[in-house]
Amino acid sequence: MPELPEVEVLRRDLERDITGRHIKTVEVETPRSVRRHKNKKEFIGRLEGKKVVGVDRRGKYLLCRLDGGEVLVIHLGMSGQLRRAKTAREAKMKHTHVIIGFQQGGQLRFIDPRTFGEMFVAETDAIDKIKELSHLGIDPYDHPISWDEFGALVVSRKAKLKPLLMDQKFIAGIGNMYSDEILWGAGLRWDRTSDSLQAQEIRRLYRSLIEVLQEAVKFRGSTLSDGQYVDLFGQPGEYQTYHNAYDREGKPCPRCRQPLVRERVASRSTYFCASCQV
Ligand SMILES: [Zn+2]
Repeated sequence: MPELPEVEVLRRDLERDITGRHIKTVEVETPRSVRRHKNKKEFIGRLEGKKVVGVDRRGKYLLCRLDGGEVLVIHLGMSGQLRRAKTAREAKMKHTHVIIGFQQGGQLRFIDPRTFGEMFVAETDAIDKIKELSHLGIDPYDHPISWDEFGALVVSRKAKLKPLLMDQKFIAGIGNMYSDEILWGAGLRWDRTSDSLQAQEIRRLYRSLIEVLQEAVKFRGSTLSDGQYVDLFGQPGEYQTYHNAYDREGKPCPRCRQPLVRERVASRSTYFCASCQV
């Protein structure tokens, strides 16, 4: 599942690639991908003729700003991809649900095998009233906060660290993979309770959070063995080669050489070092 770094890489790609382009045609092959709209016609009508003026991100949501005061919101869900096609003739991949064609040529294609992702158009002013977006917590990648502000937030929650990091209402954009990497970097167990942290542990957690997200964006996200995540041009990320804990059960911990362990928690695998994460 794409997390904040992968979505941020796509945002940068999109900003460079589609800003200034006019939407000429929109094809919706799978109405489920635009399910917030009454019907696909309404979705298409709100996009055709508009110009993309910029691309923002909130948590794992991409917001393509359009002239005329509306926003095309894109969420990739479990398996969504955005791919650029140079021409309409380029072969269509399986599970291509929405195709946006530009006046200047080229297409943006939305591919999503599991169809949990979606696209919808909303008024800019209404974005904050959309439940999933209005509930989003802090985004320390875009808007760093001081570590003592962060500490106050962490201590106030009294929750286990991994579910807390993955709680979109607390921090927007972190999922199963990056929470394991952040906790390994901080030397903290996934099941430590947030109100048990010492000041220096909070500092380590925040530093690790920022470092992991920044490095992951720098190396253009993580592409796992399923090859599911690729950038706008179909290229995989490289950050998976820098993973220290995630999906590394039995391999030596890069810090203390003890074998990393995996625990199943709430139907998810959690990877950590039982010896140096405390
Ligand atoms: Zn270790």
